[in-house]
Amino acid sequence: MPGADEPPGAARPGRWLVLLAWSWSGLAGAASALWFPDSPVIRHYTWRGEACPGCRDLPPLPVWERMAELAGLGPVRFLQAPDEGLGHAYSAAPDRVVLSPSALNLESCHLNFVVGHELAHLARRHFDEDAIALSVYSGRPANWTGDGEAALQLADGNFGLALRVSHLWQQQEDEADWLGALLAAQASGCSLEAGALAYLGHDAQAGGGLAAAHAPAMERVLRLLPFAESARRLGTLAPP
Ligand SMILES: [Zn+2]
Repeated sequence: MPGADEPPGAARPGRWLVLLAWSWSGLAGAASALWFPDSPVIRHYTWRGEACPGCRDLPPLPVWERMAELAGLGPVRFLQAPDEGLGHAYSAAPDRVVLSPSALNLESCHLNFVVGHELAHLARRHFDEDAIALSVYSGRPANWTGDGEAALQLADGNFGLALRVSHLWQQQEDEADWLGALLAAQASGCSLEAGALAYLGHDAQAGGGLAAAHAPAMERVLRLLPFAESARRLGTLAPP
């Protein structure tokens, strides 16, 4: 889910590959990428922005700003978490990406993928999607509150509700993975192999080698493979 990491609709590689091929020549120099899906037309909740204790502002790297631009986002606030408690990175509604100290030491293509993934969560408004789903699945009308944080709190301590929304969270992670990988490719020339696959593969190997890989990381790798050629072509558009 966007709030705690470790991608409307499920990824449809075929559809997007066709769009990529169709729109190739018009991409260079564009502000937002033509291939990046439009912001979904869904209810926009009010987000106060939860406190981030111990976090400090992080000056964004130009490549992060370029990815945000390609995703059609306005200004994004980047923060450094005080520790590794919530993993390498997470996004927080409506406009924040939080990175851990060790994430900042990742190889650049790994870090670009991680940041791209979080930017995709923001651009696709997965937090609003979650607020709607949690409201509906808990039996409330979709508009019972306009307060996004209040809607997300419905999942607190409610394992059954979380289980019912888990399929949506999986779709969101898939979407953030392939969109993040392609953002990193166009913004920095990182291939899928050098960025997303290497990052996730490293994670899998930490569990005892690829043969004994953690299923989630390996599943993410397998779902990303159809995007390797798209990333390679987008990489040719990266600034020198
Ligand atoms: Zn995620």
